[in-house]
Amino acid sequence: MVNLNSSLVDVLGGRSAKTLSTAFDYETVEDLLRHYPRRYAKRGELTDLASLKIGEHATVLAEIASSKEALMKGRRTSRLEVVVTDGQRTIDLAFFAMSSMHKKRLIPGIQGLFAGKVQEYRGRKQLIHPEYVLTAQAGEETDPDVIEMFAKALIPVYPATSSIPSWRTHKAIKFVMSQLDLKDEDDIIPESIRQDLELITFKQAITWIHEPENLSQVSAALKRLKFEEAFLLQTVLLQRRAKESLLPATSRKQISNGIMSEFDKSLPFELTSGQKEIGEQLFAEIAMTHPMHRLLQGDVGSGKTIVALRAMLATVDAQGQAALLAPTEVLAVQHFKTIKKLMANLATKGELGGSEIGTRVELLTGSITGSNRTNVLAAIKSGEAGIVVGTHALIQEGVKFHDLGLVVVDEQHRFGVEQRAALADKSPGDKKPHVLVMTATPIPRTVAMTVFGDLDICSLTELPKGRSPITTHVVYSNEKPTHLERAWQRAVEEVKKGHQVYIVAPRIGGASAEDDINLENEDEKRPPLAVLEIAPMLASGPLKDVRVGVLHGRMSSEEKDDIMQRFNAGPSAKKGIDVLVSTTVIEVGVDVPNATMMIILDSDRFGVSQLHQLRGRIGRGSQPGICIFVSEAPNDSPSRERLEAVSATTDGFELAQLDLEIRREGNVLGSRQSGKKSSLRLLQVVKDIDIVELARDACRKVIEEDVTLAKFPALQNAVMEIEKEAETAFLEKN
Ligand code: ADP
Ligand code: MG
Repeated sequence: MVNLNSSLVDVLGGRSAKTLSTAFDYETVEDLLRHYPRRYAKRGELTDLASLKIGEHATVLAEIASSKEALMKGRRTSRLEVVVTDGQRTIDLAFFAMSSMHKKRLIPGIQGLFAGKVQEYRGRKQLIHPEYVLTAQAGEETDPDVIEMFAKALIPVYPATSSIPSWRTHKAIKFVMSQLDLKDEDDIIPESIRQDLELITFKQAITWIHEPENLSQVSAALKRLKFEEAFLLQTVLLQRRAKESLLPATSRKQISNGIMSEFDKSLPFELTSGQKEIGEQLFAEIAMTHPMHRLLQGDVGSGKTIVALRAMLATVDAQGQAALLAPTEVLAVQHFKTIKKLMANLATKGELGGSEIGTRVELLTGSITGSNRTNVLAAIKSGEAGIVVGTHALIQEGVKFHDLGLVVVDEQHRFGVEQRAALADKSPGDKKPHVLVMTATPIPRTVAMTVFGDLDICSLTELPKGRSPITTHVVYSNEKPTHLERAWQRAVEEVKKGHQVYIVAPRIGGASAEDDINLENEDEKRPPLAVLEIAPMLASGPLKDVRVGVLHGRMSSEEKDDIMQRFNAGPSAKKGIDVLVSTTVIEVGVDVPNATMMIILDSDRFGVSQLHQLRGRIGRGSQPGICIFVSEAPNDSPSRERLEAVSATTDGFELAQLDLEIRREGNVLGSRQSGKKSSLRLLQVVKDIDIVELARDACRKVIEEDVTLAKFPALQNAVMEIEKEAETAFLEKN
């Protein structure tokens, strides 16, 4: 009996199976059946044999005149050559696969409808592998209704590769479907849900997607199959979440006279109500005896760091340790510095001037080596270090903690089940640490549900008070050079008013010129502008009356520190820097509230969220900010549209949506959802918002009814396969 798990080798034979496996990596019947058509072609009206045109699709009604099998040159297979006629003219048909099967059917005298693309071979018109139906026995007439049905039918067009044309895939799929035995109870969508949402069965959907009679069958099939993708993924995520929430964790109860309350007293500003609210939520969750798994999202500058830090401090107050993981070493260093600065003497317990109720904050990255590393590792192991900042290596390389209570992950899309598994042995006993994931930029709801569906989500929706508005202008310097001149003048004016200015360029330049950073659009002709080339030109040109400094990723950390300190000091300081020409190193973490202007050169080379992140460096103080996107992108180019869109709003949530519409779906989901079994083929999380929401609701009910899914065997089985795949991928990586 052929079922979804049957191997293609068994069903189709070794040769065909091998072709499919080489071309698409398909092994099972299900793999092949989920190879959906990309579109459907209509066969179209009947064409006279007299008016066939080379290169056009045509359907002809004709009688078989002759058929002959011929051995293919140099191969062991044979080809079938058929001649069909309308009584006056003829056209050839050629079949290269399954020729003897076709020979048995295509008997001279029989009438049929033949559809395909008209080609020319040795001066004769030919249809290669036409679709056909036989319509009348020898001597009979074809029924006009049959002709009409055939001409109207939809022919699926599959994503093809050079080794497998679409028609061959279609043949294989048709054959597999004819052998397949599918039962309703094998449907992974429980019947009650199918009924509620008016979804057709899998069996019906597979038939209608591959062999539709009309477009409404196609759309019913699509509705069902898209829902299924969303539903299965949500089940995996919600089940994971439900299971993890049953695991044990140490309760970290807030105390009233510890580091946290001391820290709050020292804050130079008042927390926003969102920060307070989410803070309380986090305190309540880490006080539970099951691990927290939460995603905190918020726009650039919304103050996520403080929220996370307060939860970390509460953990330390409750005798636990907290780790902050950053995606890169640079970011880890920045976080480390920010936290040390915010905590002041609360971060230096045991040192001169360190507070006794404080703790130690340590940094662990790949470049910390030798005795420094030994000391840091010892402080982590003994528990002396209450807060540890580092990259992922911190949890992956078997660093021993005394009692890890909270892990904060600062990034987007990258912290998965695998990393959580690596946390297993960091807390005493079988306990798991609490986990808080922060996104760098906001992401729309359905994407969050898809990518982070196994986390609880909360959002900081307001910016701290005292933020000033930022106005953004786009300057097309190739068309309006005077506008660029005006921008430089404005920069000088800002400095004269006592403010600092950023100028950003995409590339470092200099000796090793191949240093492009984070370029999202690389299809342009001239190389992007480089910091090391721009800075001297500006310093001796339009910015000759102000002090220009340079910052980029190739500088040593001492050099960078020095430059940043002088830029921070600004126009009023003797050795200050007024204008900083920089790469995107300032994209994250840099905080100079007195900076009021940013000019981004070759701004079309940056993506939406990068521009938004960069722009977030200004407007942080009491003065309004001005941002100029300079570009030479041609009129009507997509780059221009993007720049105009980013300049029109500073709402991070809106921009996130825009970013998604521009990016391809695969990039949206990142590596978090990339297994073969769990991959999304039809569902587009941005466009199919409604489906994702419906699936999530349906799934919640299922999980509530039975978290083990034992009541839904087909679904349980599908989920288990995805989990098995994830586990294998994890083991292979390690
Ligand atoms: P992000 O969410 O982008 O990580 P940060 O946590 O870096 O934002 O905060 C941005 C800046 O705002 C920092 O300088 C931080 O000290 C400051 N900040 C945070 N919360 C507040 C607040 N409630 N009032 C004023 N400034 C704040
Ligand atoms: Mg931040």
